[in-house]
Amino acid sequence: MDYLSNFMEAVKAKNPAEPEFHQAVYEVAESIELVLERHREYRTAKILDRIIEPERVILFRVPWMDDQGGIQINRGFRIEMNSAIGPYKGGLRFHPSVNLGILKFLAFEQVFKNALTTLPMGGGKGGSDFDPKGKSDNEVMRFCQSFMTELFRHIGPDTDVPAGDIGVGGREIGFLFGQYKRIANEFTGVLTGKGVGWGGSLIRPEATGYGAVYFAAEMLATRGETLEGKACLVSGSGNVAQYTAEKILDLGGKVLTFSDSSGYIYDEAGIDRDKLAFVMKLKNERRGRIKEYVDEYEGAVYAALEANGDHNPLWDHKADCAFPSATQNEINEADAQNLLNNGVYVVSEGANMPTAVDGVNLFLQARILYGPGKAANAGGVAVSGLEMAQNSMRYGWTREEVDHRLQIIMKSIHQTCVDVAERFGAPGNYVHGANIAGFLKVADAMLDQGLV
Ligand code: NAP
Repeated sequence: MDYLSNFMEAVKAKNPAEPEFHQAVYEVAESIELVLERHREYRTAKILDRIIEPERVILFRVPWMDDQGGIQINRGFRIEMNSAIGPYKGGLRFHPSVNLGILKFLAFEQVFKNALTTLPMGGGKGGSDFDPKGKSDNEVMRFCQSFMTELFRHIGPDTDVPAGDIGVGGREIGFLFGQYKRIANEFTGVLTGKGVGWGGSLIRPEATGYGAVYFAAEMLATRGETLEGKACLVSGSGNVAQYTAEKILDLGGKVLTFSDSSGYIYDEAGIDRDKLAFVMKLKNERRGRIKEYVDEYEGAVYAALEANGDHNPLWDHKADCAFPSATQNEINEADAQNLLNNGVYVVSEGANMPTAVDGVNLFLQARILYGPGKAANAGGVAVSGLEMAQNSMRYGWTREEVDHRLQIIMKSIHQTCVDVAERFGAPGNYVHGANIAGFLKVADAMLDQGLV
């Protein structure tokens, strides 16, 4: 067996029942093979074997009381994956599907993504199998307080700085921060995604979506094109999807779809600013379902997600660009083929690992402009890094200043991917570019710091 097969056999044996983690490691290891051939020092120092092992995994009980006085028990996690280039940094996900393997995949990806941002941040991820859907604000608050009552002892502004992810938005960050401040008796930048009035950064809510669109614009620019007039498929209808849509509209594109875990809507006339405002209100304030969009706007159609469907019909419409912004593995091989058949030639991943390995291979073979999540959605954590910098200075930049810095960072990530892919013999391959560039930065820091 070759090096990669042997390596993956060992990863699977040591981390059983964690398919998403295996997938994330495989995708990176495949790229890193190119590096290990040229740089024996990484192989000798066993950097790849070390980088897949979390520095620390914290697993804890989260007991809380529901509105009926019933006792509820959830499981809390924090994966502190790698601190070679800075404090652990990465979001918290509250979703019933959360388990150790999913958080390890997310923490692993975060290490490389954070390295690409040019900012000094290590990688981490955490969360709980708690489902905020259908819970009252008071229940969400009690859960967040119980979660932080354990987590607070493991985090800190120079140790580990969590943020939001699926199911964790401004409301949850507020409750988590309040409890941290109360227990630790300090007002510090221990979380990012805070409210602008109490330490948050302007543009942080927008950053992941805006960044994914800036990345797409950079990819298009390599072919002398812009987003003007481009038809775009967007999945999800949460934080990333909403601000992806907003920036597509800013740059003259047309948004055709949104989805949630129940189904998707398609609006041939395009989702304009008024319609987007309706979706934001629906999702962020009323916490309703995307299906309600078709009751409001004539001509739009809704299709429920089939439980055991072999493909997602959202990806089967004529378009130029796709912005997967919901969750992992939402584009399988059949979906990737449908996208290509429908003329899509730009895929910029707002979500983390939304495309399964077979789908990625199809995109790479077709040589479309494919921006993997590690690079394309790094804008969110980049502005989290800028929030940390502003907190340390006890100062806040203007909206324009933060957006300008975000654009510079996304440009730099894009250029790094292009340059590194070229240097390692894979021109135009943003997957190799992102994985290798992220790896080199972290690997060199690990070599410098000795065997720790
Ligand atoms: P969010 O605000 O909670 O929105 C998530 C959206 O995806 C919702 O519309 C949700 O539908 C849908 N969704 C979640 N799980 C799903 C599933 N299993 N099947 C189908 N749809 C599903 O979360 P977000 O912050 O936008 O995150 C979306 C993606 O971006 C995730 O992959 C996340 O890791 C990634 N990301 C986020 C950030 C950030 O700054 N927030 C940064 C980098 C990457 P329901 O409403 O039905 O649950």
